[in-house]
Amino acid sequence: MKHNFGAGPAILPQEVLKQAAQAIIDFNGSGMSLLEISHRSADFEAVMNEAVALVKELLQVPDGYSVLFLQGGASTQFAMVPFNLLEKNQKAAYVDSGVWASKALKEAKNFGEVAVLASSKDANYTFIPKDYAIPADASYLHITSNNTIYGTQLQTFPQSPIPLVCDMSSDIFSRPIDVSNFGIIYAGAQKNMGPAGTTLVIVKDELLGKVSHKIPSMLNYQLHIDNGSMYNTPPVYAVYVSMLTLKWLKAKGGVAAIEKENIAKANLLYEEIDRNSLFKGTCVKEDRSKMNVCFVMENPDLEKEFLKFAQEHGCVGLKGHRSVGGFRASIYNAMSITSIHVLVEIMQEFAKKHA
Ligand SMILES: *Cc1c(COP(=O)(O)O)cnc(C)c1O
Repeated sequence: MKHNFGAGPAILPQEVLKQAAQAIIDFNGSGMSLLEISHRSADFEAVMNEAVALVKELLQVPDGYSVLFLQGGASTQFAMVPFNLLEKNQKAAYVDSGVWASKALKEAKNFGEVAVLASSKDANYTFIPKDYAIPADASYLHITSNNTIYGTQLQTFPQSPIPLVCDMSSDIFSRPIDVSNFGIIYAGAQKNMGPAGTTLVIVKDELLGKVSHKIPSMLNYQLHIDNGSMYNTPPVYAVYVSMLTLKWLKAKGGVAAIEKENIAKANLLYEEIDRNSLFKGTCVKEDRSKMNVCFVMENPDLEKEFLKFAQEHGCVGLKGHRSVGGFRASIYNAMSITSIHVLVEIMQEFAKKHA
């Protein structure tokens, strides 16, 4: 057994993996693999319906919102959001809090004017920009709730007079959120919800149908809503495994219960980073992420050796993103606190070796 600290595709609960493996051989005792049945079959329709119902229940999605399971990853949402919400002669507001945010705003520039309200790029995205005025005449404000590469996370969401669009790819279902504050929430599944291949979108219905230009079918939210995420063949397996993961989360007590665990896990690791003189965190303390914990060594020459040492002790996926260096421990919902204890012990062992 490895302790998988990879950023994504990422750790999934063991029991989910077992059920997912079984469904490939024999889905629900049907004598057929989930991979070889029609997406229009009653069996799969039940999977899609349950996945949508679990999203609504876990996040208490209010009436007036639709839940979609699409393809193309969060990166397709970077274009789909402006395609559906932004007219050529209008502007959209973006906060540049990391590489994913900057890719999102770059895409929006293909559709209309983009106002970048604030950026922490000059500080290598080590903090979340907070002091900015939101222009009331923009079509929407786009933010990123958790900056996967840099390990920063919004602790509170801005009160926005215009529809708030949020990329929650790496922290959706990690804590309760008030969906009614948002116009659109989207998340690639492969960080904290399931395997790669599907993207969750929660969209406020009343925002749609307002642009004058034509939207290609596959990029049109309304068309996917009208077809229950089955306009074309959905990613059946990714939706199924996401559904199993959401079921697992519900059984654990839902997002409020998992948030408590996530806080305990993150605190344990940050305390060691702050206490252990070999290591230091890379971003501003008040913005530290409870999903992706980024840290480096005071002596960078030791980093290779630590990575190897951690690997030998079963801790994998710890190498930091190339733009930050050092280490990134991704500690998503499915990771137990036991694995964090193992990592902390390894950091302490390593410090003893180098005392
Ligand atoms: C991983 C990630 C993306 C990109 O997701 P894809 O599904 O690969 O397109 C976008 N935003 C955030 C915050 C991410 O963590």
